[in-house]
Amino acid sequence: MSYSHIDGNSQMKRSGRRRPRFFRLLLYAAVMSVGWIGNSSGSAPRSEEASAQTDVEKQFLGVPDPKIAEEDMRALTSTPHIAGSAADRKTAEFVAQKFREAGLETEIVEYKVWINYPSEISVDVVAPPGVRMHGPRPERVSGDPYQDDPLIVTPYSGFSPSGDVEAEVVYANYGRLEDFKRLQQMKIDVRGKIVLVRYGSNYRGVKAYLAQQFGAAGLLIYSDPLEDGYFKGDPYPKGPWRPASGVQRGSIGYSFDSPGDPTTPGIASTPGLSMTLRTPPQRAEMPKVPTTPLSWADAEPILKHMAGPESPRDWQGALPFTYHLGPGPVRVRMHLRQDYAYRSIWDVVGRVPGSVYPDEWVLAGNHRDAWVFGAVDPGSGTVAMLEAVRGLGRLLKTGWRPKRTLVFGSWDAEEHGLMGSTEWAEQHADELERAVAYLNMDSAVSGPNFGASAVPSLKQFLREVAKAVPSPKGATVYQAWRTAGENLPLPDVTDSGRTPAVQLNADVPVGDLGGGSDYSPFLQHLGIPSADIASSGSYGVYHSAFDDFAWFKRFADPDFVYEQEMARAFGLAVLRLADCNVLPYDYENYAKEITAYIRAAQGRADATFPKPPSFSNALQAAERFARAGAAIAREQPRDASESGALNRALRETERALLLPNGLPGRPWFRHAIYAPGRYTGYAAAVIPGINEAIDAGDLQATEQQLEALTVVLVRAASILERHP
Ligand SMILES: [Zn+2]
Repeated sequence: MSYSHIDGNSQMKRSGRRRPRFFRLLLYAAVMSVGWIGNSSGSAPRSEEASAQTDVEKQFLGVPDPKIAEEDMRALTSTPHIAGSAADRKTAEFVAQKFREAGLETEIVEYKVWINYPSEISVDVVAPPGVRMHGPRPERVSGDPYQDDPLIVTPYSGFSPSGDVEAEVVYANYGRLEDFKRLQQMKIDVRGKIVLVRYGSNYRGVKAYLAQQFGAAGLLIYSDPLEDGYFKGDPYPKGPWRPASGVQRGSIGYSFDSPGDPTTPGIASTPGLSMTLRTPPQRAEMPKVPTTPLSWADAEPILKHMAGPESPRDWQGALPFTYHLGPGPVRVRMHLRQDYAYRSIWDVVGRVPGSVYPDEWVLAGNHRDAWVFGAVDPGSGTVAMLEAVRGLGRLLKTGWRPKRTLVFGSWDAEEHGLMGSTEWAEQHADELERAVAYLNMDSAVSGPNFGASAVPSLKQFLREVAKAVPSPKGATVYQAWRTAGENLPLPDVTDSGRTPAVQLNADVPVGDLGGGSDYSPFLQHLGIPSADIASSGSYGVYHSAFDDFAWFKRFADPDFVYEQEMARAFGLAVLRLADCNVLPYDYENYAKEITAYIRAAQGRADATFPKPPSFSNALQAAERFARAGAAIAREQPRDASESGALNRALRETERALLLPNGLPGRPWFRHAIYAPGRYTGYAAAVIPGINEAIDAGDLQATEQQLEALTVVLVRAASILERHP
């Protein structure tokens, strides 16, 4: 999984609106003066220590090697390796071996988690007469060398229940809340029906959750060619887009409630954990509606023969006929037998003890399990991480020691629901109170376009890292990133309060962290400043058998130079966080972004409530936080002797943004500023407690959440103020 998979959709919807040329020039000028002439960020190292650091960085940047990256990719994608399988265990040993060769203290950490494999999956059209479909049909194109591997898992939905359902079909667009409501308005009843929805716009688990809420008997999720197929460009093998038979597997687990093993929310699923401490699976929070994915080739006969009203025009996909809503006359039979069990999964954790601040951990990771071969998702991240680790290992061999402890995690069972990272984070919650940051990759390379998401305190830090890494396009990653950004359309401004990253300064945008990858437990459960980086492109084979070495080599990164770039960026970020005297967090910007979120929410509250609540306390608290952030920024470039107390204050500030009782209805999510959206699943909801209370039209909850936000902002501000 990865947030970046939804980029394709959002870009499409943004089409047609671009920044006026004048604005782009202005932006360019501002970036030039701030970024290049000024070049005086608080995180820039200084003097002798600075030049020593620069030597270390130079040495590190010289190590990552495209040829080794390619060999690693070949090894990791040689066979399907779904979480918990023997092949998955082999990839754990492969990664552990690489960690050890680099000099990391390495262990393979086992958890036992409740997950399903498919045992019998079939979807048949049973009416009207003459219409036939027996799926899911195998994923096949001409000439893919890997598609006949017997270990390729039948397309299925992680966390679907078993079930036999036969019913008429209703088409429900993306399966969003507004789509189900629209069907209600049109008097089309989905109760007892099989609902057919297309991928896109939200997390598939949200589709399953809403299908359950609205009383559907079954759910089919298919990949419309509009989303990532021929509508976007030539399908594989001619181009990178999804072919007719390609299926998107994926979990529908309710990870927006809490990720990880659903039988152990908040505690670690260690192998010896007493069964009395586990929630019995039948009582755990899991989807109740039998759900399974389809290719568009398998969905086409269903959609094509549906009657009933014409679908709203913005519900129309790219198949060559007019979509109708039903119900029927198409009837479908779903037969799903899921094989659920407690299964062993294996994280690989490698460490380098810090020489000065051993208790302060710099965490970095990506997942290793894949639905099938997983070249992009997650092999490209694993390969980049391994080359970064090898680079740091080279430094270790010269006698260099990081000041802070480095911890690298190769997480398992991310695809089923962030299991390896969540269970490990829950197990080590106490020690992680002193963690400095968590850096994530997932689908790290699917093309040439660098992008990043982070908490606002790390956004400028990431830009500085990008300025120090060469781009395969020439110049630096930062310059390539900026040039690409000038040609991007403006994001849609939605009325939902879930607008992506507020641009406060005219620089390359760094996104916000929502859900869908392994940073979630670190940031949203434990309050550790987090970031995610990726280099993306035209990626139409997400979670299909075709996300393999052949596709990757042809379309994502033929020369593995973007793997090299990501290894350098990832490793350099780790290196700087490990060795800086003063942590580079920017809380002034953080507070300004929060202020913008509060103002946006205020506008929405004014439009929602006849007597809207007062936002002034929350706004004042955010302004106080901004002043404290600005004051401490003046101390941040100070020398080492003072850094202990200063760093402690800087570290504790992000943690202060945790809500003691978590978000309403989902206490596992404790971060007051960021969560996966309740109805989006991937996209970040900002100040989610408040925005979701406004969405629900609940004035009292809005007031309570404003109060809760005010408390955490005051606490964060006072931590910075107390620092002498
Ligand atoms: Zn992934």
